[in-house]
Amino acid sequence: MNFIANQPKGCPLCGSGRAQLHRWHSIADVRAEWKQGLGFDPFDRLETGDHLFQYRCLDCDMRFYHPAICGDGEFYKELSTRFVWYYEKDKWEFDVAADLISQLTDVRRLLEVGCGQGHFLTRMHNLYNCQGVEFNPKAIEDCQAKGLNVSSSTLRSIETSFDLVVAFEVLEHLSNPREFMEDALRVVKPNGYLLLAVPNPEGYFSEADRVLLDMPPHHVLSLSKKTFENIAKIFQLEIVNIQQEPLRFAHYKSYISNFILPDLPTAEKQPLLKRLMRRFLGIDLDVERRKVVEQLTAIQLATSYPIAKDGLTGQTHMVLFRKIA
Ligand SMILES: [Zn+2]
Repeated sequence: MNFIANQPKGCPLCGSGRAQLHRWHSIADVRAEWKQGLGFDPFDRLETGDHLFQYRCLDCDMRFYHPAICGDGEFYKELSTRFVWYYEKDKWEFDVAADLISQLTDVRRLLEVGCGQGHFLTRMHNLYNCQGVEFNPKAIEDCQAKGLNVSSSTLRSIETSFDLVVAFEVLEHLSNPREFMEDALRVVKPNGYLLLAVPNPEGYFSEADRVLLDMPPHHVLSLSKKTFENIAKIFQLEIVNIQQEPLRFAHYKSYISNFILPDLPTAEKQPLLKRLMRRFLGIDLDVERRKVVEQLTAIQLATSYPIAKDGLTGQTHMVLFRKIA
């Protein structure tokens, strides 16, 4: 395992040289899991070594993959066309952000970075002067069809400034978070706001050995609450608000099915009894058995969820910064 030669020179957020190897994964295993679980291999078009290495900065607490292998526009197009859930319409952070923003009396102009299919902008565009940037070509078309002001401009090329810049689930995809912060803050007016939502590394999925979508080429960074506090120090920002998504029942369900319940075996060759039962009585034993297991799981879920809710948090956390003039 040749990771010494590849060690990062410094943390891509705070620049500290004090980074520790946190975990690593074999590329071959990850590729096989992508093909099996998500139906395609995103590494086909990407240059990789044998392993993916994640480091943890001992100063700002950010975790980062090095080298950072980031998916391109085509990768996101593939994900969003294969999976309708990819651009979720009603995210926890959209509700909380809309509520928080409504309390800020000095916000008129709003920019969303990485606005996807424009679900958040659609909510906001009658209330604020809204603009969005996105790099998935298909998503830009969808936004424009909805009449939203969205383009493929880069943050760096934007000339105007805004009272508020928001980025939901964007920062964790980027190899250079420092550059993103500088570019975003450049277009925030003095005393203006920057709102970020990212996966919560202390959330319920932190127990998993690996979560494919929380790794390259999808996510390359992981930011904790401590990282938010360090971002405020590094970029001279004031933290107005930090919120953690509570554990949702849907999260808990996936948590149970992914980490606790084993896969149900499927019979490859149907024994004679099963074939006869299905043919003459119309009863499929596998289907019946699955129904029983599902009912037992539903009972288990309903009784254990209230307890788990106190110990586990949901998928996302959000921070609202104010730029100190
Ligand atoms: Zn750092």
